[in-house]
Amino acid sequence: MDFTFSREQQDIINAAREFAMGEFPDVALEFDRTESFNRKIWKKACKLGFVGLFIEEKYEGAEYGFFEHCLVTEEFWAVDPGMGQAILSTTLGSEILSLFGSEDQKQLILPRLISGKAIVGTAITEPDGDWDVTHAATTAARDGNEWVINGSKTFVPNGTSAEYVLVYCRTDPENPSREKSYSFILVPSDTPGYESTKIRGRLGLRASDTAEISFKDVRVPLGNLLGKEGDGLKEVNFYLDILRLSICAQAVGLARSALKEATQYTQGRHLFGVPLNTFQATQFKIAEMTTRIRAARNLYYEAAWLLDQGKADRALIAMAKQYCAETAIHCADEALQTHGGYGYIDEYKVQRLYRDAKVLEIHEGTKEMELITDVVNAGLT
Ligand SMILES: Cc1cc2nc3c(=O)[nH]c(=O)nc-3n(C[C@H](O)[C@H](O)[C@H](O)COP(=O)(O)OP(=O)(O)OC[C@H]3O[C@@H](n4cnc5c(N)ncnc54)[C@H](O)[C@@H]3O)c2cc1C
Repeated sequence: MDFTFSREQQDIINAAREFAMGEFPDVALEFDRTESFNRKIWKKACKLGFVGLFIEEKYEGAEYGFFEHCLVTEEFWAVDPGMGQAILSTTLGSEILSLFGSEDQKQLILPRLISGKAIVGTAITEPDGDWDVTHAATTAARDGNEWVINGSKTFVPNGTSAEYVLVYCRTDPENPSREKSYSFILVPSDTPGYESTKIRGRLGLRASDTAEISFKDVRVPLGNLLGKEGDGLKEVNFYLDILRLSICAQAVGLARSALKEATQYTQGRHLFGVPLNTFQATQFKIAEMTTRIRAARNLYYEAAWLLDQGKADRALIAMAKQYCAETAIHCADEALQTHGGYGYIDEYKVQRLYRDAKVLEIHEGTKEMELITDVVNAGLT
């Protein structure tokens, strides 16, 4: 097994790092405090080809693997998680669209995501739902040549900024198999009856947009069905595999950032007349963070590499997500600890890292759900 990057991959890493270092540090705190999204930097990132680089060339993408998307994600998050999330989440759902969408749907949307002309979101989670997506309550009923959608979704990424949202709905309530009664429907956000409310007061990732959406008799053409009717659950599972890998990359990026903050701060801070990093207790923290980051990264590299070979390993992805998220939270916590009281103040980046890290154990599957997925898919029961 060869662990070296190709020249092209190294160039992608360098370019992503340079872009993030040039654009994020001066504005990250402001966008965190104001909970707002920076369209200017997003458009710049699109222009430079960082957004949706896994999308096929015929839709104006660079057609790299998902692994390369993870490399960009890790670099962006290593500079600032909030900004990284705001920019790279603008294509959330394009993975489903790319694989299952019709040619017309792909031609309409994918080039616009890459060029910074449109944003997409996916609406799966429901306010009263549980992890079992076979119990989602939002419905889409046929009426003539239209779908009529009713229900509500929460934690929808880009819910107030997206032009299109892929909505997971029950399209065939009569089907005795709940597994086969769900589908994704493409809904333009300017359709009458679509209402979105930004979720404010989030602990972290505040520069990105998350919303609640309600659908009241939202009518879209039957042609807005994505893929085959009844295949929604299969599509969700495929989507979650991909998303969880990008969360691994986010987590490793965040952990690297925490390590950097801890290393720099403990070099400069003097206590008892010597730099803080000369104490063995500090060195142990740094050593353990470094070890965990290497282990986390190797776990997700293997899972991402397998996915690009068409051999997605659901148990490995679940293990990687659970471990990478835990690593990010551990590193953010330890980095804050090295800063003492200063780490508690938002002028110090570690405070933001600490807040941003927690969601990694929640979104796209809580850590408990990852363990359950891991156990079931690894055949441990
Ligand atoms: C910032 C943010 C972004 C998000 N982005 C998206 C998105 O892009 N798309 C989307 O659809 N959703 C998104 N979500 C929603 C997220 O995926 C859910 O919040 C998450 O899956 C947990 O669901 P819940 O909040 O309903 O918690 P619940 O399902 O109510 O879980 C509560 C607790 O119970 C535990 N639990 C539940 N069932 C079991 C069980 N059987 N055994 C043991 N423990 C259990 C859970 O692990 C958790 O700790 C986002 C959430 C946040 C905060």
